Amino acid sequence: MAGRSVVAACVAAGVWVPSVSAAGEVHEQRVVVGTSAGGRGLVAAHRWADGATRTILVIGSMHGDEPAGTRVVRRLRSTPVAPEVDLWLVPTMNPDGAAAGRRTNDHGVDLNRNFPRHWVEAGEGTATWSGPAPSSEPETRAVQALLRQVRPRTVVVLHQPLFGVDAYRAKSLTLVHRLAGCATRPAASCRSPPTPERQPAR
Ligand SMILES: [Zn+2]
Repeated sequence: MAGRSVVAACVAAGVWVPSVSAAGEVHEQRVVVGTSAGGRGLVAAHRWADGATRTILVIGSMHGDEPAGTRVVRRLRSTPVAPEVDLWLVPTMNPDGAAAGRRTNDHGVDLNRNFPRHWVEAGEGTATWSGPAPSSEPETRAVQALLRQVRPRTVVVLHQPLFGVDAYRAKSLTLVHRLAGCATRPAASCRSPPTPERQPAR
């Protein structure tokens, strides 16, 4: 249900159209964008029509114990793409964690806390360890390289529990609110004080 909601949000937000235009043949390509700490391939699906200029990257999961986003990405792989959309789909940037049902990668690092922006060394020995250094993990570096290569206009990363659309440090609050409205989920900051009913995004 979570996946269906997010896809519906994308449709209503104008990211998708119900059908591909007659002139808009969609190309599809499978790309290996890196290798995990445990030696697994990081795979992306690239879907685009000639002339597409609006690059969007969706990462289904970076925490291996949050599989719902991978189902969203799987659905997006078969959803019609708007002619202007150049779509990159990464089902998971943490295939080792996904295989083990574990939040971290094979080095015990929380990939969501390993990116260099706002990196803080913290949590060693826990499931939220930021790693020994910014971008210390091959999965992080692979996604950074992909970002530099495709320069997406929009990046969407899915987490569980999906209580809403995180506005914390979001560059486009317009997008946040459109997605939230279409998904009938609140727009909120994951840094807001948690309540028993609404746990923070992970
Ligand atoms: Zn997460």
